[in-house]
This record gives sequence, structure tokens and C-alpha cells, in this order.
Amino acid sequence: MKFATKAIHAGVHPDESTGAIMTPIYQTSTYVQDGVGNHKGYEYSRTLNPTRHALEKNIAAIENGRFGAAFGSGLAAIDCVVKMLSPGDEVISTNDLYGGTYRLFTTIFAKYGIKFQFVDMSDASNVENFVTPNTKLIWVETPTNPMMNIVDIEAVAKIAKKAGAMLAVDNTFATPYLQTPIDLGADIVMHSATKYLGGHSDVVMGILVTDNEEISKEMYRIQNSTGAVTAPMDSFLVLRGIKTLHLRVQRHCENGAKIAHWLTKHPKVDKVYWPGFESHPNHAIAKKQMRDFGGMISFTLKGNNIEDAHAIVKKVDLFALAESLGGVESLIGHPATMTHASIPKEEREKTGVVDSLIRLSVGVEDVEDLIADLAQALN
Ligand SMILES: *Cc1c(COP(=O)(O)O)cnc(C)c1O
Repeated sequence: MKFATKAIHAGVHPDESTGAIMTPIYQTSTYVQDGVGNHKGYEYSRTLNPTRHALEKNIAAIENGRFGAAFGSGLAAIDCVVKMLSPGDEVISTNDLYGGTYRLFTTIFAKYGIKFQFVDMSDASNVENFVTPNTKLIWVETPTNPMMNIVDIEAVAKIAKKAGAMLAVDNTFATPYLQTPIDLGADIVMHSATKYLGGHSDVVMGILVTDNEEISKEMYRIQNSTGAVTAPMDSFLVLRGIKTLHLRVQRHCENGAKIAHWLTKHPKVDKVYWPGFESHPNHAIAKKQMRDFGGMISFTLKGNNIEDAHAIVKKVDLFALAESLGGVESLIGHPATMTHASIPKEEREKTGVVDSLIRLSVGVEDVEDLIADLAQALN
């Protein structure tokens, strides 16, 4: 089956008792057993809930893995991956990383004796320099947030395999419609379903998918043991969101391309970061591993003034000033004071998150209106 068919049909079937075509919201904590140990596959909703189960099968199918797990947030999903490790283990991670992931790694897990290294992976072979016998996990985000760097997943997968380490890819920005890391050799795919999978800015959720049975056993054991599961209502919302993922992402990409090109011609704009430009240092890799380039764009202003950046994000009308991304509506953000405030200034500037950097999550509105809004704000 191809993508759109799977997005709509995988994991779901009409309710047997009523014929309801949509998966019901099974708002229940427990399940009546016919006799001791004689049940219909569901015993307690932390362990498994039918609405969540349908979603977990659906997302696994569109990521080309066999096993999916849904968590209370993207960070809870990442937390589950790191809990597969033991004290003394080492993690090599992309340096240009979602701020919350960086905070989880450095302020929570570092004190349990797990060592993290943050590495520029724009040249994948650089990863090899950091591999030690203790390297157990390589964590990749691509495209990265907010600099839109591209990491060659296939090349890093080869290094991970040789090192005997797991490769996990945060696929939040690309979505499985644009990029399927398991096909490129990744062991685990992670999503903040809060973003494009949900797609309507009405839910917070995390997802893991793997095609490796051994890893899946650990994943489900940790999910059940730590209990950071998502709710039936939220599972329903994300299942619904995924049914239109391909349609939404197509429009995000179209609008994103138009706005990225428009920005490059604006006299107040300095640099524009978007993997669709031929001048992007890893454009060829983006082209190889992604179907299109997405609707996430970052840009800087001439003069690099924080006041100018603050004025612009305030002046826009249609673009809402907010954290998060991936919803149908367009958002604008200022990474240095919002998403990346938890990263020290010196660290963030090394990766390009300078004071005037502005990030756009281009929505699916009419692009002419979005451009007019940016034009008035920049002028
Ligand atoms: C939002 C986000 C996360 C964290 O997900 P939450 O659902 O907010 O916990 C992780 N990675 C990326 C790339 C994100 O954008």
C-alpha cells in the first residue's frame, strides 16, 4: 500500500459492535475479564488502550516499522529511548537540537551517568570521531531546529551499525510523508505528534516507531513501567490528523517554497535557511532522503538586532507569535528567547541561533495573504 492509503486505513477498522467507521474513544481504564487471564487483549489502559493501539499501529505503518508506541509528549518519547541505556553509556547527538531535547539530555540524564556529546553532523563522517566502545545511541534530528541543517541518515546509520549503537531519528520536522528514516537504516523514529502528525495545534503527544523486535520489547516495557502514556481522546485526535497528513504537508511545502524564495529577495533579510535552496550546503542529501522540503524556514535580519526581530514577530498579524509548529495555521517564533532560551547564548550562537534569527512554521493558508503579512511586518 502507498502512503495516503496507509495513512487513512492502517490500524483502523469499523467498530464491530456498532459499525461506527471512526475508531471510538475508549475512555476506560480497565476491561472486564471473562475469567482469570481470559480477556480480549486489553487488561488495563496504561498497558494498552484500543484507541491508542489503533494509533500506534497506524503510525508504525506509515513509518514503515512494525511497532509503534504513543506517549504523553514528544519529550516523554525521547525519555523512553534514553531509558534503554545504562550508566556509563554514551550518546552522540546532533548539536543543533530541539531545546527541550538538549535540556532533557543535559539536566536530567547526565546526572544518571549517561554521557552526551553534541556534534556537528552536517558532514556525517565527523560522527565517527566521537565513537567509543561505550557509544550506545546516536541521536539525529534532520532537518534540524531551527537552522534547517540536513544530516545524511543513511551515512550515520552505517556508522551506528559499525559501532553497535542504536540510531534514533527525530522525524518531527520532516514527517513520514517526506522522510522515512527506517528505510534509511534507523532503528527508532521519534515524533513530537504535537506538531505535523496532530496538525491542528490541539494536542501534545510523542511517538516512537521501530521495526526491531528486540527494541520494541524494551520500548513497550518502559512505556508500561514508567507510564508516560497518551490519553484515548488525544489518540483519537492524532489518528484523525494523520488521515490528512499528506494533503497538509503538500500545501506546507508549496507555501514554504514560495515564502523562502520571496524572503531571499527582501532587502531587510540577511540569510534564509531552507533545505530546498540549491545553495543549502546539504541540498543534495535533502533531495536524496526527502520527498520535498517542508514548510519550516528560518531567517536572519541585516544588522542582527534583537529589537528588530522582536518588532517583526510582534507586527505580524496572520502569523501567530507562539512556540510549536506544524499546525494548519502559520506561526512565527524567536528561537533565542523562546524555544532555545534554555541553551546558553554561547552554545546557541555557535550553531547559528543568533539574536535576529526568526523561525516560521508556514501553515496551509493562502500564500498571498501570508506574504502580504510578512511584507507589512518587515517594512
Ligand atoms: C516539539 C518538539 C519536540 C518535543 O515534543 P513535545 O511534544 O513538545 O514534548 C522534540 N523534537 C522536536 C523537533 C520538536 O519540534
